[in-house]
This record gives sequence, C-alpha cells and structure tokens, in this order.
Amino acid sequence: MTDQSLIILGASGDLTARLLLPGLGALLAAGHVPGLQLIGAATEDWDDARWRSRVSDSFGFSWDKTRYIQADVTKADDLRAVLAAADGPPAIFFALPPAVTARACSVLLDVDLPPGTRLVLEKPFGTSSQAAAELNSLLTRLVPEKQIHRVDHFLGKSTVLNILGLRFANRIFEPLLTSTHVASVDIVFDEDLALENRAGYYDHAGALADMIQSHLLQILGLLTMEPPTSLDAGELRDRLADVLRATHIWEGNPAAFSRRARYTAGSLQGRQLPGYAQEPGVDPSRNTETLAEVVLAVDTWRWAGVPFRLRSGKAIGDSRKEAVITFRCPPRVPDGLTGYDEHDRLRIGFGPDKLALDFNINGPGDPFVLDQVTLEAGFGPGDLPPYGEVLRGVFDNDPTLSIRADVAEQCWRIVEPVTAAWADGKVPLLEYPAGSTGLTDSLLKP
Ligand code: NDP
Repeated sequence: MTDQSLIILGASGDLTARLLLPGLGALLAAGHVPGLQLIGAATEDWDDARWRSRVSDSFGFSWDKTRYIQADVTKADDLRAVLAAADGPPAIFFALPPAVTARACSVLLDVDLPPGTRLVLEKPFGTSSQAAAELNSLLTRLVPEKQIHRVDHFLGKSTVLNILGLRFANRIFEPLLTSTHVASVDIVFDEDLALENRAGYYDHAGALADMIQSHLLQILGLLTMEPPTSLDAGELRDRLADVLRATHIWEGNPAAFSRRARYTAGSLQGRQLPGYAQEPGVDPSRNTETLAEVVLAVDTWRWAGVPFRLRSGKAIGDSRKEAVITFRCPPRVPDGLTGYDEHDRLRIGFGPDKLALDFNINGPGDPFVLDQVTLEAGFGPGDLPPYGEVLRGVFDNDPTLSIRADVAEQCWRIVEPVTAAWADGKVPLLEYPAGSTGLTDSLLKP
C-alpha cells in the first residue's frame, strides 16, 4: 500500500513533459511523497517501458512505482480502469485539452471516485464566467471544493509569492502602497517565446486569456489585496477574492482601454520567424492576438483612481517580466535642487527574479543636481520549481496556492467586456514585428 497516487491524464502531452514531470521530479528528489505511485494515461499506444523512460528522462533518476495505461478519458470504463490501478488516494491531474477535461469530468459523474480523490485542473479554466461557473458546479458534484485544485503555476513561483513577504513583513513599503502615493502600476509579461508549435491551444486562447485572465490577474490580486491575518487557504483566498471583485476595466470602457496585436515576420535572437498568421496550425481569420494590454481599476478605498496596466506579448525581442509600481512626485522639490525628472519606482522582476527600487538622491558630481539610483536585491530561486510547489499543495491537501471557484469566475468577469469589445471589432488588431519591443507607446500616459 503506497501513500498516495498521482494519475496524469494526458501523459503524452506537452505540459506533462515540459513542466509537470520535471516539477514532480524535483518534489520527489526533495524527499516529499516518497511512496508516490505515478500512473500515466493517454490514448497513445505506449507501453510501461516507454512511459518509464519519459519519466526518468524528466526526473533525472528512475522511478519504479509508475505505469502507463492506454485510455480514452471520455469513456467511463477506461476511467474506471485507470482508477482501479491506483493504490492510494488518487490526485487526478487533467493535463488534457480543456474541452477533453470538461468531457472527462462529466463522464466521472458515472464513476465511483475513491475517498480522498483530488481533482487538479489546468488553465484555461472555462472560457467565460458562465462556462467556469458550469464547470465549478460539475466539479463540486464530484468532490468537495477543498479537494479541487485549479492550477495557476504563477502562484507557485517564488518571486510571485515574495510579494507577500515584501508587502506584509516590512514596515517600509506597505504604508506607501495606496492611491495617495502610487501614480500607476504596470504588470508586464513580455516573452521572447513565439508560438513554439502550440497553435492547437494558443490560437483558441490568445494573450488575453492565456496570460492576463489568469497569471497577471493573480499578481494584481497579490499586489492589491488587504493584509491577510494568516496564509491559510481561507484567509488568503478571501482577501484575493475581495480585491478581484472590485476590479474592472478602466472607466468601464474596454474600447478605449484595451489593445491587441499580433506579430508579423521578424528576427528573434538570430532566428527568422514567420508572422503569427503564417505559423502552422493558425487560422488567421480567428484574429487571435499575441499581445494584449488592458488598463484596470481596482475600486477599493486604497486603490481608487490608480490605473493598473496589464500587458503580455509573445515574440518580443526585449523580454520583460516585472511589476512596476510608479510613485507620485513628491509634493515639492526645494528650489535650488534641480534635475528631478524621474518618479520613484519599485520593480519586482519575475525573471530574472529581483527587487529594485529606483529613487532620487543628490548623487555624484554637482551636489545640487539630482540623480536617480537603483537599489537592487536578487531573490534566489525557490526550493522547488513552480509545478513542484503546485503539486506539493495537492499532496498536502492544501489548496492555498490553487484558484478558488469564485476567483476563477471573477477573473473571467474582469476580461469579458474586453473580449466582447474585440469581438465587436471596436478595437483594431494591430501588428508588431517579431523580435521588436511590441507596441511602444502606452495606452495611458503616466
Ligand atoms: P497537448 O495537446 O500537448 O497534450 C494533450 C494530452 O491529452 C495528450 O497527452 C493527449 O494524448 C491527451 N488526450 C487528448 N484527448 C484524450 C482522450 N480522449 N483520452 C486520453 N488522453 C487524451 O496539450 P498540453 O499538454 O499543451 O496542454 C494540456 C493542458 O495544460 C491544457 O489545458 C493547457 O491549456 C494546459 N497548459 C499547458 C501548458 C503548456 O506549456 N503546454 C502551460 C499551461 C497550461 P493522446 O494524444 O495520446 O490522446
């Protein structure tokens, strides 16, 4: 009898190979869940040996307690066979295309789930607030909410979690994080990755759903929520839900406060890339954006009036991943002290992971001319990669780092006016060359 079982549905897929197995390997190597039994399932006609070799390549060591089962997860008998192979209380990880996940969940209604079964769902969680609500109600017919883990692996990133320590374990930053002192906040995740053969998923998602609706809204939530009294699942997710409920598109005007664009052919780090519309598997008529930008308002006492710009683009030459808090000007700079032209900024880098504070001092040279200097601190990497953290929460039955049902619905509610304005053609689809900095000007001048 082993401690626990992890069933990966979609064992032959990209997520499993690139992120899930390496994260699991790191968790096991660190001594967690030593007795774990791992079951991989997919429709591919693989045998145990082929699966084991994928597992050991990813782990960097061999793991005997694993086997592969060929199964179509849309068939109840196949799902029963997979579950019957589990020795311990299973965590079922749905590493499947979203539509197949929804189908598999409805089929599970006809299958007896062992006590203690946990369901682990990937993003995108639904396609709209209504679809997310329907999926939520289906899932709670299978297991209680506390056994449902909706993955946002950004919540497993140590730098993202560092926002909590930075804000709530220091006296010096938190009192300044209010509309009295902050002029604007930018949350940017520009990647140098292009489509990388993921048209099947990405062409139906786009940058808004792939990055902003999920990861960047979680970062916004951590940056803006009121201090939790503890980091347990109830308290932290209550505070996150409060602030996301108060978040909406700036001035309620998605046509004016959102932008979308897709990359054209260009050169990225010495690689010649085709335009997005020419990438294999892309349907250009879907008008999928590879860059999305929105301005949001967080309508709370603390944040009312501060614009939050969220932006993410693919195939960007100057990859930039950071949250930047721009402070207001000081009320007055004394006469005789010249050269003030830069706001103070607190920058939280999500790769490289670092914290930087840009501020003005008299600096070198003429002591009455201001210079901007930067104080920088690097965060080392976390003990575990993000998927290792996510899986640790699953095995520990701790949903703190997973997205609660209402939060998943709120995140769709926030972006839905933007999706509707884009579908109505109210916002043009702009273009930028791959390898460029994307759209250069800003939607909102500071
Ligand atoms: P892939 O298309 O690469 O893999 C899908 C997997 O599902 C394959 O193993 C496929 O196996 C299996 N599958 C499909 N239909 C069935 C079926 N009826 N029965 C059993 N298995 C089936 O997708 P990804 O791995 O890229 O994505 C999986 C999920 O993870 C998606 O929700 C995606 O949004 C999410 N995600 C992915 C990321 C990534 O980087 N890849 C990042 C973040 C989230 P077979 O072909 O053998 O049927």
